[in-house]
Amino acid sequence: MRKNIVAGNWKMNKTYQDAQALVSEIDNMVKDEVSGDNVEVIVTPPFPFLHSISKLIQGNQRMHLAAQDVSAHESGAYTGEVSASMLKSVGVEYVLVGHSERRQYHNEDADLLLKKMKAALGQGIKPIFCCGEPLEVREAEDHFKYVGQQLRDTVAHLSNEEFDQIVIAYEPIWAIGTGKTASSAQAQEMHAYIREELSRIFDAEAAYNKTILYGGSANPGNAKELFSQPDVDGGLIGGASLKSRDFTDIIKSF
Ligand code: PEP
Repeated sequence: MRKNIVAGNWKMNKTYQDAQALVSEIDNMVKDEVSGDNVEVIVTPPFPFLHSISKLIQGNQRMHLAAQDVSAHESGAYTGEVSASMLKSVGVEYVLVGHSERRQYHNEDADLLLKKMKAALGQGIKPIFCCGEPLEVREAEDHFKYVGQQLRDTVAHLSNEEFDQIVIAYEPIWAIGTGKTASSAQAQEMHAYIREELSRIFDAEAAYNKTILYGGSANPGNAKELFSQPDVDGGLIGGASLKSRDFTDIIKSF
């Protein structure tokens, strides 16, 4: 059974106090307003807040914790890095890998992304693998080829068992933080293509069961239509995840 997920990526925002307040509000709203068990909620705060937020959401079965990054290394002399085992020890269940901001500003390439995914998987942490094309690639109508290559460069190197543990997020770079969302038709055709590509790399059943999230200026006004597409299984939400009301309304869009 394919799982629906709404994940909030807080990026480098909030102080400790603001983060506690935000997650408490989300936690309460989710408890009060979200019924049924058709959606899993993930929050992705900055590293320093992971431990306290893990404790805060402990009692809420629907809420899960992700980190924004993980080291490819296990341990040792890697100043500034945070290992998968450290994340595991504070209750992290998911980690973003391949977000376009890390690819672009930190030069993370396919080889490093694969190592990061393997490091996370080795600790039982599920990678949320982000892919998506820049504007010039979309305008040249090369977006399917581009995203297909991103999958073949990294995801294709996982074993079947490892693949079963990951989540995919399609995030067209031209839609991230720009207020310009992909139309539901554009999201659907890319998600269907990703699923098709995954079925070629792995198998049809594994691809059918894979959760594929859409990310890029999703908000309470467009989430319902995006999530109603047959191959869109939820969202990776940036800006709108920093406001408890907006984030909860997006969660309620299923
Ligand atoms: C993101 O960065 O993952 C993202 C989807 O951001 P936004 O929702 O702000 O476009």
